[in-house]
Amino acid sequence: MKDDCIFCKIIKGEIPSEKVYEDEYVLAFRDINPAAPIHILIIPKKHIDSLACLEEEDKEYVWKIHEAMNIIAKQEIIADSGYRIVVNCGKDAGQEVMHLHYHLLAGQKMGEKIIWNK
Ligand code: AMP
Ligand code: ZN
Repeated sequence: MKDDCIFCKIIKGEIPSEKVYEDEYVLAFRDINPAAPIHILIIPKKHIDSLACLEEEDKEYVWKIHEAMNIIAKQEIIADSGYRIVVNCGKDAGQEVMHLHYHLLAGQKMGEKIIWNK
């Protein structure tokens, strides 16, 4: 864990969050500034800066995040209607929090599949 990381603080319970799922490897909580009716962040319980910093030893976290997404989709009753997973990696993608996180967005028909500034 990293002392100055907001998501590490959420994992440690130092900052409150609206948890929707938790296991040994993963924590999922509602985004504070939702971009869709359902907007959940899924994070590893290990400080990993971004997708670009993943190592082979982290593979269990990657699997557990994907398993959690499926569990949460059923919990939120969006497994059939669908959802979008977004992972911003680095500054051009607009990653603001440097602790790997998967955005799960759902609850409405999504717009463009790929978004960029022309
Ligand atoms: P990104 O731009 O991909 O780094 O996304 C960071 C996300 O974290 C944004 O959608 C923020 O709204 C969200 N966020 C930041 N602080 C908190 C917090 N304390 N609780 C929940 N979500 C947060
Ligand atoms: Zn962290």
